[in-house]
Amino acid sequence: MDRGYLLHEGKAKRIYTLEDTEEGEDFSRDHLLVEFKDSISAFDGEKIEEISKKGVLNNKISCSIFSYLEAKNIPTHFIKTISSREMLVKRVDIIPLEVVIRNVVTGSLTRRLGFSEGTYLKEPVVELYYKDDELGDPLINEFHIKNLEIATEKEIEVITKMALQINELLVPYFDQKDLILVDYKVEFGKDGDDNILLADEISPDSCRLWDKETLKILDKDRYRKDMGQIIESYEEVWQRISGGE
Ligand code: 5GP
Repeated sequence: MDRGYLLHEGKAKRIYTLEDTEEGEDFSRDHLLVEFKDSISAFDGEKIEEISKKGVLNNKISCSIFSYLEAKNIPTHFIKTISSREMLVKRVDIIPLEVVIRNVVTGSLTRRLGFSEGTYLKEPVVELYYKDDELGDPLINEFHIKNLEIATEKEIEVITKMALQINELLVPYFDQKDLILVDYKVEFGKDGDDNILLADEISPDSCRLWDKETLKILDKDRYRKDMGQIIESYEEVWQRISGGE
């Protein structure tokens, strides 16, 4: 499967089109290749570094989680793993919303609403942020979203419902691996038929994952907070997900 041209380069991933082949033009148009880079960044790209093997681990972790969710009837963009750092996905238009789902209080929720750090929420909290680097990804509500024509009322409803369904599946998934899914960010996209699919990635870059016993942080917060052992923690998450594969 040959790469076409570079469609988009973000902080952690590159998105490529697929080379047209005579027999597979439709396939090439409807699919994209996602390459996971080794770059890690925080604070809107103010802090950025290369961490060898991070892209490989995030690809493996994301592919496993998307496969699991697909098997549980969550529509995602994931089709298959192509190589150690590439996945084949359905082409979607990303809806510019960062959908954050929280189970345990930490991060911006502690700062914004004064909840005590580490409290288990009575029920999951879904928050919507406008994905716009220049504006600093602000928290928005459905009225803003409709006025900005980011999504319709129905689409917001579908996204919120899917986010909660995903959470109901992922909390026990990680719990079985002795990990607490504290909070995470997901993104959705629309395919050519306007179906809403879970897109982007789900990895220790976009999730907070704590060890169930020790509460050791095993995600990008280790980088944000200069705690070291970043790749070792991502490797630990992969070992638990794969059962030591
Ligand atoms: P917080 O709002 O507490 O900073 O983040 C909540 C959750 O969403 C955390 O798991 C964090 O990793 C994730 N998150 C929030 N914004 C982003 C982002 O721009 N990129 C990524 N990869 N994750 C994010």
